[in-house]
Amino acid sequence: MSDEKPEGSPKSIEEQLREMLGKANLSFMMPQQPPQPAPTEPPVPEDDDEEPVDPLQSIREFDLKPRDVRDYLDRFVIEQGEAKKVLSVAICDHYNHVRRCIEKPELQEREYAKHNVLLLGPTGVGKTYLLRCIARLIGVPFVKADATKFSETGYVGHDVEDLVRDLVKAADDNVDLAQYGIIFLDEIDKIAAQSTGGGKDVSGRGVQINLLKLMEETDASLFSQTDILGQMQAVMDMQRGREAGKRTINTRHILFIVSGAFEGLTEQVQQRVSTSQIGFTGERGGAPSDGEYLRLAGTRDFIDYGFEPEFIGRLPVRVVCDPLTASDLEAIMNKAEGNILDQYVGDFDGYGIGLKFQSEAIKAIAGLAQEEKTGARGLTTVLEKVFRDFKFELPSTGIDELEISPLAIEAPAKVLKDLLKEKVSVRHEAMQADIAAFARRFSEEHGLKLTFNKSAMQRIIARCSEEDLTVRTWIERQLHDLEYALKLIARNTGKDSFTVTKKLIDNPEKDLADRIAASFGKDG
Ligand code: ADP
Repeated sequence: MSDEKPEGSPKSIEEQLREMLGKANLSFMMPQQPPQPAPTEPPVPEDDDEEPVDPLQSIREFDLKPRDVRDYLDRFVIEQGEAKKVLSVAICDHYNHVRRCIEKPELQEREYAKHNVLLLGPTGVGKTYLLRCIARLIGVPFVKADATKFSETGYVGHDVEDLVRDLVKAADDNVDLAQYGIIFLDEIDKIAAQSTGGGKDVSGRGVQINLLKLMEETDASLFSQTDILGQMQAVMDMQRGREAGKRTINTRHILFIVSGAFEGLTEQVQQRVSTSQIGFTGERGGAPSDGEYLRLAGTRDFIDYGFEPEFIGRLPVRVVCDPLTASDLEAIMNKAEGNILDQYVGDFDGYGIGLKFQSEAIKAIAGLAQEEKTGARGLTTVLEKVFRDFKFELPSTGIDELEISPLAIEAPAKVLKDLLKEKVSVRHEAMQADIAAFARRFSEEHGLKLTFNKSAMQRIIARCSEEDLTVRTWIERQLHDLEYALKLIARNTGKDSFTVTKKLIDNPEKDLADRIAASFGKDG
């Protein structure tokens, strides 16, 4: 190879560095995706005829109105009308501002309060999903992380700037695009510096302050402190006078969305309201719901909850997502594009099985999922349990359709058993096809034609059912000497076509030994 070095030639700095890291067993410090080595040749210019793709095109051309964004979200996300509206406005304002700053860079110098958003609400109700959909609509990178991962100060590898580096990765290393991305930080309530038994929890406060810098504006390094190789690479690039790509990313235009369930905040607001506002009632005149109390939460409540005033001040847009009812969950399965049922239909379609759901079955799934109290995530839990055995068994049975009834949701094992019994002839046909496929493969691989007679086939089907094995596994196990025996007989007799009988299936050692002995007889 042309790039192989002759022995004894001096090692490059990169090679020496890699060796050093290897010897010191520091491989854990290497970045997960090592940075691309700097090109040794100047990059080949793009084909003149081809227009280079502008990664910022969709941002330069951003012209959506809040209603457009809301309408798009309606296709995928059920309910959460208030969050959809608030987010649509925040997103349009943000990306209009970004577009204008790209058009007229001098605008960047003007004071501008970013529309970072605080989303409150229980788990699994669509908070992350809303933002994923928005990022996809606008064509910007998106990352999600849990704030708890940053809670232990000094824990190697988890500083808040990792978020920005992850955004660069999500933008396929395009820093220009990454600086307009969206960062979603979940479980933000867990970094509230609440008083605990042992006094103030200072680590939460520290993380808030670090995040604050990021949310405001900072030049975050593209290399983490543990990315020694990346940092050295950059230094080497500079030493060699080579233009070292960007080293930092400015966070001015990154949109931050933080979210959390804020357990305990409801009670806190409730207490405040009950002492200050006599007779606060819910929308329907009765006791207010948790969501209604959360909607009343003001800056003071968040500060009392354990947030720094500066931190909560950087989150001017606040909106509550409501818990999903059983009928919302039903609507997700019936109406939301690309919902979890579509995924199951696709999974079964992969095996040529048409999956259908009776509407009462969808209702039953929604009811069970709601009991899980994990929002739409409950749907995945319920469906996984219902389909576990169907997914395992059906693909090797030849059954090509499955209609899910309410009974299948309630007692999937029984329904599967009945289905297998009812479709026994279909299953047997599928097994016969598997036996024929074995014979075909055998003849392709070894040049010897195999025919399984009827009683051999019946015996294989019976044994496979008894032992709960696939045809292929069972035959390969039972007839492991077949290839050698038949090749020997073929050599002795010139025969290239064989019939597998019930006798051979039941006692392969004896039957093959008899056949071999006979073949010697013929030869002699
Ligand atoms: P969280 O509110 O905890 O951020 P997610 O948005 O991650 O929850 O929801 C988990 C999954 O559940 C989503 O990927 C989506 O498939 C589904 N989901 C949740 N809420 C809704 C909703 N309101 N409409 C449609 N699908 C939803």
